[in-house]
Amino acid sequence: MHCYLLEGDEGRILVDAGLGLPSDDEAWRGLDVDAIVLTHMHPDHVGGAQRAADATSALVHQLGLDYEQCVRVWGSADWPERMAAWFRSHGVPDAVADDLVEQGHAVAPFIRFVREPQLLREGDRVDGWEVLWLPGHADGHIALLRDGVLVCGDILLAKISPAVGLYPESRPDPLGDYLSTLRRIVELGPSVAYPGHGEPVRNPAERACELLEHHRRRLEETQRALGPEPLTGYDVSMRLFGEDLSATQRRFAVAETLSHLERLVLTGAARRAGNSRVLAYTAT
Ligand SMILES: [Zn+2]
Repeated sequence: MHCYLLEGDEGRILVDAGLGLPSDDEAWRGLDVDAIVLTHMHPDHVGGAQRAADATSALVHQLGLDYEQCVRVWGSADWPERMAAWFRSHGVPDAVADDLVEQGHAVAPFIRFVREPQLLREGDRVDGWEVLWLPGHADGHIALLRDGVLVCGDILLAKISPAVGLYPESRPDPLGDYLSTLRRIVELGPSVAYPGHGEPVRNPAERACELLEHHRRRLEETQRALGPEPLTGYDVSMRLFGEDLSATQRRFAVAETLSHLERLVLTGAARRAGNSRVLAYTAT
C-alpha cells in the first residue's frame, strides 16, 4: 500500500496513512509535512492517521461524507454485528456472517483515525492541489489533481478492478457512482495517476475505459444469472464468483454482486423480490 508525499504551494502533503502498524512510527518521525489528506476510510488508508498526525503535527483532511462513514464503521462498537445482520438479509449463511463479527472486532482497535479532521468538499484546494470527489470504491473517496497528475487512492488500479461493493447505511448505487467517476476521469484526461496499490497508471483515461467495459460485461453476466425465481445476492455471487471462496472473499463477492444487482434494478433490467427477512432479485 502506497502513501505519497506531494509538493504543495507552501509545504508538503502526505496522502494516506497506511494501516498504522507500530513500525510505521519510524517512518513518520521527523517527516516534514504540513497537511495529511486521506483518500478514503478503508483500513489500509486511514488506520495510521492518528500515528501520522502525532508524529508530524499536521492536520488531517478528509471529505465530510468519508469522515461520517469512518466514525460509523471504526467508531461504533456494534458495527460488525450491524454489517453481519445486513449480509444475512442478503442470504449469506451464518458461518460467513459470524466470521465478519469476529474479524471486525479483531481489527477495529488497530484502526486509529483522527477525530474532527478538517472537512473537505469537492472543488476545495489543499496547498494548490484540487480536491475531486470521485465516489464508487468508497462513497466519500477523493483524489487530488494538479497539472495533470492525479493522486487517486483506489479509484484506478493498474492491474486489478477496484472493488465496488454495496454496503449498509451507504449510498444506494455505488456502481452507478463508480461509472460516473470513470467517465469523469476520461473527460479530465490526466497524464498519470498514482494509485494506492501497485504501479502508476500511465494512461488513466484508457484504464478508465477498460474498467467501464469490464463493468458493462459484468452487468450483462449478472443479468444473465437472474431468472424468474428470486435469488439472493449470495446466490448470484455463487454463480458469478464460483463456490470456492474464503469467508472474507465471499463477503467482498456478495457486496460486489449487490452493487451490480442494484444498478440493474435502477436501469429496469432486474427487480427486487424476497420477503421481509431476506432480499432477493429476479429478472424482469
Ligand atoms: Zn480501498
